[in-house]
Amino acid sequence: MTDAVRMSLEDVHAAAKAAMLGQGFADNHATAIANTVTAAERDECRHHGLFRLPFYVNGLRSGQASPDVEPVLTELAPGVLKVDAGYAFSPLALERGDAPLAERAKEHGIAALAVTNALNVAALWPEVERLADRGLVGFAFVSSSPYVAPAGGIKPLFGTNPMAFAWPRLDGPPVVFDQASSASARGEIQLRLRDGESLPDGWAIDSHGRPTNDPQEALLGAQMTFGGFKGSNIALMVELLAGPLLGDKISFEQAAHDKANTGAPCGGELVIALDPARFVAGGDRVAQLKHAELLFQSLLAQDGARLPSGRRYEARRRSEADGVMVPRSLVDSIESYIAG
Ligand code: NDP
Repeated sequence: MTDAVRMSLEDVHAAAKAAMLGQGFADNHATAIANTVTAAERDECRHHGLFRLPFYVNGLRSGQASPDVEPVLTELAPGVLKVDAGYAFSPLALERGDAPLAERAKEHGIAALAVTNALNVAALWPEVERLADRGLVGFAFVSSSPYVAPAGGIKPLFGTNPMAFAWPRLDGPPVVFDQASSASARGEIQLRLRDGESLPDGWAIDSHGRPTNDPQEALLGAQMTFGGFKGSNIALMVELLAGPLLGDKISFEQAAHDKANTGAPCGGELVIALDPARFVAGGDRVAQLKHAELLFQSLLAQDGARLPSGRRYEARRRSEADGVMVPRSLVDSIESYIAG
């Protein structure tokens, strides 16, 4: 990377936290955002690392994000928890819900956490990975701004609507996937526009519904779901689980709420936790997890196949040893945020 600065993960965290404090976030929110951003840098998920700080700042400056509201945890029914984020960014609300969700899942076998009124510009793997680190199976669902046309339609309706899944392992970190239901991330289209590159087939349609490889036309038209109508149905499910189920917003309602067009949608997130030991008589969790290893081994025995999250864990090992490279322009903007 040209004109980049090497930073340790401790430095990344300190810089992200200082930037958020410099912009007016309370200490607990600044710490939670820094935790999220640092984890993304560490795992080389750079779209959700320091690169995201402007989204947090814009959300705050627009007046749409609270800098200091305390998330409120309630239990709506046995095993159904809610954290009202109070129109603040999601990391603190998710951290507050973590331990109670895991505790209820171990008690009942299954538990769910509804995070509502949260501005979400992060990846979902941290919350499901934390559950799997506690021996649980985790799912998470978030809807976002409406950029994606339903299969057969031509107008943006769905968010890029990610879902994440984590499975615990006996030895080593969990198997996790975290994927949007669109064929590509919106940022990938923006990067190709910046770099004067065309788009692969199947990513987008123009405003008349014609397939396009032109990033500008794609941004004015609509993104497509992955896998045709199957991805479209998953996007529909994510909308329902993260919106109406939780009493929160559908993607197009989130866009209407984002009056300042910050690109930081505010809505719900559903997180579900299952305790494997409660799903078999006698609860032999070790046997269940060993059984799963057979599947992983068989997959890995095929040349070219890999487990999701393998790339992240390799990146994590590198970053923990050597730190990460951060573009100088990003370091400069972080310093300006720190200055206030
Ligand atoms: P990718 O397409 O990059 O990756 C999706 C998943 O597939 C990852 O878990 C990845 O694991 C795994 N994977 C990649 N290649 C392989 C392979 N060859 N074999 C098996 N598994 C593989 O992610 P997306 O572009 O779909 O999403 C990127 C991120 O954006 C997600 O973290 C998502 O949560 C976030 N997002 C957030 C939104 C929000 O509103 N908050 C909206 C939309 C997306 P690995 O990481 O190991 O490569």
